[in-house]
Amino acid sequence: MIANGSPVALVTGAAGGLGRTAVARLRERGMHVVATDLALAEIPCGAPLMVASVDVTDESAVASIIERVRSEYGRLDHVVHLAGMVGQGPLGDVSLKDWNRLLEVNLTSAFLIAKAAHAALRDTRGGLVLASSTNGLNGGSALSGPAYAVAKAGLINFARYLAKEWASDGIRVNCLAPGPIKTPMVTGRFSLEALAVLRESVPLGRLGEPEQVAHAIDYLTSSEAGFITGTVMNISGGVVLD
Ligand code: NAD
Repeated sequence: MIANGSPVALVTGAAGGLGRTAVARLRERGMHVVATDLALAEIPCGAPLMVASVDVTDESAVASIIERVRSEYGRLDHVVHLAGMVGQGPLGDVSLKDWNRLLEVNLTSAFLIAKAAHAALRDTRGGLVLASSTNGLNGGSALSGPAYAVAKAGLINFARYLAKEWASDGIRVNCLAPGPIKTPMVTGRFSLEALAVLRESVPLGRLGEPEQVAHAIDYLTSSEAGFITGTVMNISGGVVLD
């Protein structure tokens, strides 16, 4: 049990570029963080922190980690679902297997997590943050492929749906829509030339920093954001204007 009643946040995709930065930021704020990913060894450690290997497409693994958090810490205040994977187009090159996998990892995982976490978040009047993308707002492109664009669009409406359904439980549900951010998902995938083209496509003329997304997560999980639900936070340097 957490003696001092500090809030507890569960982060998925915690070994990723955005995940590890978000974990660090939430811990700086004094949250107890449960960091989960497929690749356990990659997750930055240190107390107060629980680290667990969880495949977000595995219904029983998702349910188990949430039960474990409740039994070990006595509470769960926030779930920050960052686990995801990118695809590529064009459509003609995408197999049914790839399409299904992209939807499973990016979108169905959010359904599994939301179902499993609902009661715990209701108990704390907590919050859920989902990771969409500008691809979910502007149709995406063959760089990340059609399934990624569809899954990320689905996450936006899922967040809006849950924001309404769970409002009476006091649970806030919000969505991030980052543009290209300097994480392995972007910098590890493109050549220097392609990265230069990508940078030029951003009106602010640069890629975003993981810390800028972590700040948004910090804010959305804070009491200062207590009246914000169903929001899509556009962190894209102007790639999408809304
Ligand atoms: P990343 O590739 O660095 O990290 C993603 C993490 O998700 C990895 O650690 C990976 O192991 C984990 N993961 C993948 N499949 C999983 C599964 N089945 N179960 C558990 N974990 C799994 O990516 P990132 O840049 O940190 O992105 C985080 C989220 O933000 C993703 O959902 C991504 O789509 C979204 N996003 C990223 C960017 C960007 O430019 N980096 C832009 C928009 C949206």
